[in-house]
Amino acid sequence: MKYPKLLEPLDLGFTTIKNRSIMGSMHTGLEEMEGGFERMAAYFAERAANGIGMIITGGIFPNAESSRGGATMSNDEEAAKHRLVTDAVHAADPDVKICMQILHPGPLAGTKDAVAPSAVRSRIGYYVPTALDAEGIQKQIGDHVRCAVMAQKAGYDGVEIIGSAGYLISTFLVEKTNLRDDEYGGSYENRMRFALEIVEQTRAAVGPNFILIFRIAAMDMLDGGMSWEEIVKLAQRLEQAGVSIISTHFTWHESAVPTIATMVPRAAFTGVTGRLRKHVNVPMITSNRINMPDVAEAVLARGDADLVSMARPLLADSEFMRKTIEGREDEINTCIACNQACLDHTFTGQLTSCLVNPRACHETQLNYLPVATAKKVAVVGAGPAGLAYATTAAQRGHQVTIFEAANEIGGQFNLAKRVPGKEEFYETIRYFNRMIEVNKIDLKLGVKADAQMLKDGEFDQIIISTGITPRVPEIPGIDHPSVVGYIDVIQGKKPVGKRVAVMGAGGIGFDVCELITHSGPSGALDRDVFAAEWGVDFENHPRGGVTGVEPRVAASDREVFLLQRKDSKVGAGLGKTTGWTHRITLSRRGVKMMNAVEYVKIDDAGLHVLIGGQPDLLEVDTIIICAGQEPKRELYDELVAMGLSAELIGGAYEAAELDAKAAIKQASYLAAAA
Ligand code: NAP
Ligand code: SF4
Repeated sequence: MKYPKLLEPLDLGFTTIKNRSIMGSMHTGLEEMEGGFERMAAYFAERAANGIGMIITGGIFPNAESSRGGATMSNDEEAAKHRLVTDAVHAADPDVKICMQILHPGPLAGTKDAVAPSAVRSRIGYYVPTALDAEGIQKQIGDHVRCAVMAQKAGYDGVEIIGSAGYLISTFLVEKTNLRDDEYGGSYENRMRFALEIVEQTRAAVGPNFILIFRIAAMDMLDGGMSWEEIVKLAQRLEQAGVSIISTHFTWHESAVPTIATMVPRAAFTGVTGRLRKHVNVPMITSNRINMPDVAEAVLARGDADLVSMARPLLADSEFMRKTIEGREDEINTCIACNQACLDHTFTGQLTSCLVNPRACHETQLNYLPVATAKKVAVVGAGPAGLAYATTAAQRGHQVTIFEAANEIGGQFNLAKRVPGKEEFYETIRYFNRMIEVNKIDLKLGVKADAQMLKDGEFDQIIISTGITPRVPEIPGIDHPSVVGYIDVIQGKKPVGKRVAVMGAGGIGFDVCELITHSGPSGALDRDVFAAEWGVDFENHPRGGVTGVEPRVAASDREVFLLQRKDSKVGAGLGKTTGWTHRITLSRRGVKMMNAVEYVKIDDAGLHVLIGGQPDLLEVDTIIICAGQEPKRELYDELVAMGLSAELIGGAYEAAELDAKAAIKQASYLAAAA
């Protein structure tokens, strides 16, 4: 067996988890949507039918005041809705366990009614929370217990209580958010009391044969956060209080260290769980950036944990575990940790999905059903849109040929994968290469399809996914030898000098700055580099893992100006959950970000600009154009002129603000209907 540890059952005494894989908790937005429980049932059941050991739902609130209108579990009526989910999962596979996460956001509730141990506003909170009085504390404990009891009534196999992330329970534990002087504040014994009473009372209420997981921050990444001794003590006391499993989490939402973005090395934090595991007897779950079965197996083999939690990887591929069990891991559609369609959606009030799998959370709406009559389909261009269309159409039974002028598939993904911290894009290209084989697509590399060729091929359907052409701004001197395009820079085809202006601060402008200011190994591939860059001490574990540890970023020997015309903050359009990491990295490397810049001309002296209406000269030797794209449609226009019908997708259809998320989504929906 290739993954003996991952596929080994775990006996909890009163029940067994059939293997060591857990679909971790992730709020999707279905919880609050009209008809959302039916959709959630389909979403979870599909994962249950495909080999996952245990599922943990997105966070459900224990009472109305914690929820800001979100899904609560406090009465029979609410429990009845959850029955749809638990029944669907158990019908898909009676051996799969499903636990409901109980989440009280405390100071992060986002309402004026937010409560907390003390009136301490979170760095990312909108309101100063109200400090709970003695009665209020007892109410919150009781509401957690009631929530667990209702979950049991609703057919769940257990609950996970979240005691991390800066949510209510964790704010009792940490000194700087708990300023109380009663029996719930002051000494650590007192600060643990709220968590322990919730667990003790929940265990008493649900009985011994119900899975009770408690999620702790094993490293909270807070300046002045929890010490290692406090974390060990909490884990031991939770065990005594009756938890079945301890799950480890690695951050508070307000902390300034990325823990799940693509720049974080795979399984970077599991060693912390491993250290903690030596101090307790109950099984432990670890998580964060475990996105392939070999990574999970290695984590378990090292003894870092008893179970591995994968949330986003199960969004990206509902068959992750089936493919693992059947030795088809090269067919896994890997989560690239971009956050673009999952957490960026969650935190902007949009329904969660997945950039590489638009079916995620849309299982009742987007289905790739077998076709009655196979068509002969030509797809021109093997970028993300073309690949998504071709593989989906072929999977449904169409006979597909891909024409790609380059000698490899991937399109813009081939640029992305060269950017330090974006190495995961290799996996998407690997996935599509394998899908081309599995679905027997005729791939013609190094072939620039022309209109006559497509006409002669007698295709029933022609899909034009020829992508984009980089925009060249109309600025006097734009053809000066110091001006280069981003594609040549990323491909290493044009030299870049020591003083550089990057014109355009969208995703590509940031990527280019990352590339040209980076030296040494990528932090995404080297845990020590990551730890140094972000100021984390994994070994000595000062408070929070970060207190007193200065980030050490290798300075760039280039002077770089990142410019935009808009007067908004540079990088404001980047992803909600990852934009800050890119801005911090570039600032630490000394990149000067300038907004409200007017470009005047380029000459031997450099780039002449107006800043606030005042003339200025950036004495640069290289100007890299990252000014967006225009659709590349020559072939489409030729086909139309010849009277042939064709369909535009991806960048060829719409280049403005185009990204891989939109391209793959559009292509997948069209191919589902083809
Ligand atoms: P983009 O996001 O559209 O940014 C291009 C920038 O160029 C604009 O923000 C614009 O800012 C500037 N610009 C536009 N026209 C210009 C002109 N005529 N002269 C000078 N400047 C001009 O495009 P991109 O950076 O090429 O990215 C392409 C797509 O890939 C985007 O959708 C992006 O989100 C996506 N992408 C995402 C990531 C990611 O990590 N999420 C990474 C890379 C790419 P001003 O007009 O204010 O100067
Ligand atoms: Fe992973 Fe990106 Fe999909 Fe989120 S959107 S699950 S991070 S691939």
